[in-house]
Amino acid sequence: MSQSGFIFDVKRFAIHDGPGIRTTVFFKGCPLDCPWCHNPEGKARQLEFMWAEADCLGCRDCKDACNRNAISFPKGSLLLEKEKCNFCQVCTQICPARALRIVGSETTVMEVMKELEKDVPFYDQSDGGVTFSGGEPLMQPLFLNDLAEACKDTGMHTTLDTCGYAEPESLQGISRHIDLFLYDLKMVDDEKHVRFTGVSNSLILENLRTLSRSGENVIVRYPLIPTVNDNDEDISKLADFVSTLKGVKEVHVLPYHRSWVTKSKGLIWAEEKPFDNHPPSPTSLKRIQGKLLDTGKKVLVSR
Ligand code: SF4
Ligand code: SF4
Repeated sequence: MSQSGFIFDVKRFAIHDGPGIRTTVFFKGCPLDCPWCHNPEGKARQLEFMWAEADCLGCRDCKDACNRNAISFPKGSLLLEKEKCNFCQVCTQICPARALRIVGSETTVMEVMKELEKDVPFYDQSDGGVTFSGGEPLMQPLFLNDLAEACKDTGMHTTLDTCGYAEPESLQGISRHIDLFLYDLKMVDDEKHVRFTGVSNSLILENLRTLSRSGENVIVRYPLIPTVNDNDEDISKLADFVSTLKGVKEVHVLPYHRSWVTKSKGLIWAEEKPFDNHPPSPTSLKRIQGKLLDTGKKVLVSR
């Protein structure tokens, strides 16, 4: 039987999720709760509703179609009452603008493979492949394992974008099907890590040490969030830690951007977390890149 799992998107022609042209499969659910998450619709494990106010035509077809009176528009904004809703999905199916939609769907390895195989010629031409992202793919280890194995069986290059918060056995088990790890490290200070993400980073650091020792191909990715993890102390701790990882040859700095804000506002049932920020300045990026270069690793500043 084909293993099933929950995903919330499959993005074709991705060029920032590993080498070459890639298709990225976004897994639903994440054990961390970073307030700056660029894919807030991937955080919750369960299905949820998203309303894009800018796309809404104001027709109220969704409200009229709901026989449980779960939808209303107080002050012009869509309100969907959780206690009344039975997830029949009539409202999302009737919406002419796809302004109201369900985020997430259950799928199988076979179904995802059908999508991935469409772009094999592009992977071959560009030395690209498939990236597993999210959310956190390792929250669904069996589905990830079977999907990655199927990709390798057909000769595709595989990349795993992970926050590293996973059972060591799951991570080590999947390694044989993964060509490249994009390992997201939010900060090295544990107290801060708990404060900002909701979990300790000790497992994350240990898993990263293990991957490095095992000779896996790992790029460390550091999301640079002004006022959160960009001060000299944070960068020194990062540089000191990365220096100990002999197997890691590259560090990518990912400057914060605000693209997530609209998506986050559209998640109807998500808890609102007050967080806003500005992208790091070019001067600050240059300074940080310089400090990280002292580790002897290749350092890139990404999009
Ligand atoms: S059906 Fe769609 S477009 Fe019409 S009011 Fe509802 S969300 Fe807006
Ligand atoms: S999914 Fe919920 S809100 Fe939408 S029509 Fe069904 S019961 Fe109503």
